[in-house]
Amino acid sequence: LEENLSKAEIHLERFRNDGVLNQVNGEAVPAASGETFEVISPVDLKPLARVARSGAEDVARAAAAAKGAFEAWAGMPGEKRKALLHRIADAIVARAEEIALVECMDTGQSLRFMSKAALRGAENFRFFADRAPEARDGQSLRAAGQLNITSRSPIGPVGVITPWNTPFMLSTWKIAPALAAGCTVVHKPAEFSPLTARLLVEIAESAGLPKGVWNLVNGLGEEAGKALTEHTAIKAIGFVGESRTGSHIMRQGAATLKRVHFELGGKNPVIVFADADLERAADAAVFMIYSLNGERCTSSSRLLVERSIYDAFTRKVAEKAKRIKVGHPLDPETVVGPLIHPVHEEKVLSYMRLAREEGVTIAAGGGKVEGPGGGCYVAPTLFTNANNKMRVAQEEIFGPVLTAIPFDDEADALALANDVAYGLTGYLWTSDLGRALRMTERLEAGMLWVNSENVRHLPTPFGGVKSSGIGRDGGDWSFDFYMETKNVAFAT
Ligand code: NAD
Repeated sequence: LEENLSKAEIHLERFRNDGVLNQVNGEAVPAASGETFEVISPVDLKPLARVARSGAEDVARAAAAAKGAFEAWAGMPGEKRKALLHRIADAIVARAEEIALVECMDTGQSLRFMSKAALRGAENFRFFADRAPEARDGQSLRAAGQLNITSRSPIGPVGVITPWNTPFMLSTWKIAPALAAGCTVVHKPAEFSPLTARLLVEIAESAGLPKGVWNLVNGLGEEAGKALTEHTAIKAIGFVGESRTGSHIMRQGAATLKRVHFELGGKNPVIVFADADLERAADAAVFMIYSLNGERCTSSSRLLVERSIYDAFTRKVAEKAKRIKVGHPLDPETVVGPLIHPVHEEKVLSYMRLAREEGVTIAAGGGKVEGPGGGCYVAPTLFTNANNKMRVAQEEIFGPVLTAIPFDDEADALALANDVAYGLTGYLWTSDLGRALRMTERLEAGMLWVNSENVRHLPTPFGGVKSSGIGRDGGDWSFDFYMETKNVAFAT
C-alpha cells in the first residue's frame, strides 16, 4: 500500500499543481470564464484538483474544432486510422500503471480491478481499430433493372458524455468506435472523476492523433453537458449515465434532432434455481454485486432464489459478503473501496435506512464502516426477507447492496425478474436447459448470462431495454450508431 500510495502521489501532483484543463484543438486550455470547481478523493475527502468549469462558449469552441477536423479525419484511409488507433492502445498500455493509480484515487475503485481497466481500454481501441478499414462497406442488392449499393459514412462530430463509475474504461468504449468510424469527438466526462479522461486525450495526441479530432470539455452536466447536447454541429450523443439524465438529454437534443445512444441504469436480477451449481452461483452473485463497489451498471442487485434453498443460499452469500475486505483502494487486498463521493454515499446509506423501515432483515453489512483516510466506506450489504414491491428492490442503489427475494417456480421467477422499470442484464443459474431456453426468451433484458457472471465478448451487442437504454454498442452496432447509411440505386 505504501509503495502504491507514493507512486500515486507522483502522478497526482501535476493535477494538484495545474488542475484539470480542457483540450481544444490540440491545446490545453482553461474554461473561457476562468472558473473552476474542485474534485475530491473519496479516500480522504481531500481536494485532488481544480477542474475547468466550462460553459456554452467552451463547448462551442470544442465543437468548432471537431467540425474543423472532421473532413480530414473522415477522409483518412481506414488502414491509416487503424494504425493510429493501435498506437493509442500501445500508449495506454505503456501508461497502464499511472492510469490505474490515478483512477483509484479519483473514484475509490480498488486497484485489484482498476489495474485491468487500462488494459481493457487498450483492448477497446484495438478491437475497433481492426474494424476501421471495413466500417464503410455495405452490400449490393439487386432488383429487376436495378442494382443497389449501400455504404456507410461517419455521421460527423459527435458528443460523448460519460459517468463517474469506471471513467477510463467507459470513455475508451464510447470514443474508440467513434474515431474508428471516422467521427471527431467532444468528450464531457463526469464531474466527480475527471482525471483519467484528461490522461486519455493526452495519450491519444501523444500517439499522433491530429489536433481537433478529440476534444475534452470538463464541467457540470447541467452546464457543459447540456450545451453539448444542444450544439448544432454535434450530430449525435453517445451517453452513459442515469436513466433520468437520458430523458433530459433527449429533451435537450430535440431541437437539433440529435441522434442518441443511451446506456443507462439497471436493477439486474440474478436468478438461482435449486438445480444450479450453488457454489459457483454464490461466488458469481457475490462478485457481480460487490466488485467495483457495486457501482456498476451490470451489477446483479436483486438476488432471486428458489424458496427451497433460499435460507441456505442467502446464508452462504451473507458469509461471503462479511468476509470481503473493505479498505484503501490502493491496497492490493482490497475488494471494496470507498464510494465515489459523500453525496453518493449518503444516497446509498439512505437505502440502508429505508430497508429497515421497509422491514427487511439486514443479513450482512447495513451501514458505514471506518476505513483508512476516513472516506466514503460502506459495508457490503445483504437484505433478506424482502419482496419485489419494496423500493430497495425497485430502485437502482448503485452501491454494494444486494436485495434477496424468494420465488416459488419458474413463472414466479420470471414475473419478479421482469417487474422493474429497468432491463439491462440478467444472470440465470440452472442446470435445466429447457428452463434456460424458456426463461431467456421471456426475460426483459438486453443481455443475459446463463451459468456465468458477466464476461464480455466485444463483438456481442451491449445495451439495455426499458429504462436501461436505447441502442447497442459492441461489434458493428457501435459503427451503426456513429455512421449514416446511404443507398444508391443504379438502373441496369
Ligand atoms: P449521471 O447521469 O448523473 O451523469 C452522467 C454524465 O451526464 C455526467 O458526465 C454528467 O455531468 C452528465 N449530465 C448530467 N446531467 C446532464 C444534462 N442535463 N445534460 C447533459 N449531460 C448531463 O450518471 P452518474 O451518476 O455519473 O453515473 C451513474 C449512472 O450511470 C448509473 O445509473 C449507472 O447505472 C449508469 N451507468 C450505465 C452504464 C451502462 O452501460 N448501461 C455503465 C455505467 C454506468
